[in-house]
Amino acid sequence: MSDIVLKEVSKSFGAVSVLDKVSMHISSGEFIVFLGPSGCGKSTLLRMIAGLEQVSGGEIHLGGQRVDQLPPNERGVAMVFQNYALYPHMTVRDNMSFGLQNVGTPKEEIKRRVEDAARMLEISQLLDRKPAQLSGGQRQRVAIGRAIVRDPKAFLLDEPLSNLDAGLRVRTRLELAQLHHRIKATMIFVTHDQTEAMTLATRIVVMNNKRVEQIGTPMEVYTRPATRFVAGFVGSPA
Ligand code: ADP
Ligand code: MG
Repeated sequence: MSDIVLKEVSKSFGAVSVLDKVSMHISSGEFIVFLGPSGCGKSTLLRMIAGLEQVSGGEIHLGGQRVDQLPPNERGVAMVFQNYALYPHMTVRDNMSFGLQNVGTPKEEIKRRVEDAARMLEISQLLDRKPAQLSGGQRQRVAIGRAIVRDPKAFLLDEPLSNLDAGLRVRTRLELAQLHHRIKATMIFVTHDQTEAMTLATRIVVMNNKRVEQIGTPMEVYTRPATRFVAGFVGSPA
């Protein structure tokens, strides 16, 4: 259906190579976590899937269609950013509606989708507020809601929990798992946090130094690490 296939995707910024021939096959409905240390290329890879960054080599296929030359709004994916990227001058309702207005969705349909998503995320009472009047956790929900209303083939989440305090981070993590269970969409979630990866992922893509070290279920990468790096990064502290 809407599988995501990466074929030898590479990226350089000028003369500096940051990703080298990354390949993977993500099945529809998976919760994939890109896990690796800071600077290993997780965000760049996610941004290339979203279309916010051009590939330097290789191919990206989404639902059987090659998309690496398409603009972001034609790829059928929705990105949730670490800093939420909400428009400060717009209400929550308008923030959530904005992307749909641009693609010509009828007004009534937009209203229904925004209100359904708001109910699901328990932010119905916040629809008329502006981002400055929201807590960090509430802004996070709005950012997720804005993605949900677009009914994407895949949600791309770049360290979406890292700006939340510890308690809220755990709660939001559980809610994300429930959301995935409920809407059964493909999720690609970037983090450098091993616990988030182990608890959320159907499969983890362990990345290091421009490359994929291992792709496997949390159990596989934990009990059968493919490389020393994976053993050290994912394994239990000695
Ligand atoms: P991660 O998300 O895993 O922390 P990034 O994908 O953000 O890593 O970055 C991977 C590498 O690419 C880093 O060395 C970073 O400095 C570099 N990089 C990212 N974006 C740019 C850019 N726009 N221009 C130049 N270098 C970049
Ligand atoms: Mg990053």
